[in-house]
Amino acid sequence: MSDILFATGNKNKLIEIRRILQGTGYGVVSMKEAGYDVDIEENGSTFLENALIKARTICRLSGQITMADDSGLVIDALNGEPGIYSARYLGENTPYTEKNAIILERMAGVPEEKRTARFVCAMCAVFPDGRELTAVETFEGRIAFEVAGANGFGYDPVFYVPEAGCTSAELSEDDKNAISHRGKALRKMEALLKEALS
Ligand code: IMP
Repeated sequence: MSDILFATGNKNKLIEIRRILQGTGYGVVSMKEAGYDVDIEENGSTFLENALIKARTICRLSGQITMADDSGLVIDALNGEPGIYSARYLGENTPYTEKNAIILERMAGVPEEKRTARFVCAMCAVFPDGRELTAVETFEGRIAFEVAGANGFGYDPVFYVPEAGCTSAELSEDDKNAISHRGKALRKMEALLKEALS
């Protein structure tokens, strides 16, 4: 099985990503597992720029194919916030119960049709020979009126998915992966990787 380095420290993402790539012949090793304990400044202005900054840095250090993603929640009624600052929004260590409660407060009075939002996932794979594969996908939904569900992570309890009739925190892992920004970006990346490696 070939190993691909994943430039993330986020355990939840690793779990989702390993599960999605199961059976493809690719193992996924985190930066930490591979012994790279570096803090990378994500100073890009888009999700894709930030993903590329992370992957290029670790690929340069490791000499291995390196994947990275950058993702977040874009809320139209809040001018795109928290956007690329999703992880840092209201403080990196602030619990999501609090972040989600504040989002609902800020959205109070916003009618259903204006509560449109999307998760965005930019994913890339950087090869030691300089090739770069990229995939950017979205998961469209709306900000719920109240939190619901205990699955998933982060902003899932406030993200209502009209096609499923529930929040993404009420979806099973498999059901979320089938329609999520990260699931779609990974499946696209899987196809791009297979082509690049053949
Ligand atoms: P990143 O690690 O810089 O990509 O930060 C992603 C941020 O967006 C984190 O704060 C996550 O909570 C949030 N986020 C990304 N994808 C999801 C998701 O599928 N569900 C809930 N929150 C997400």
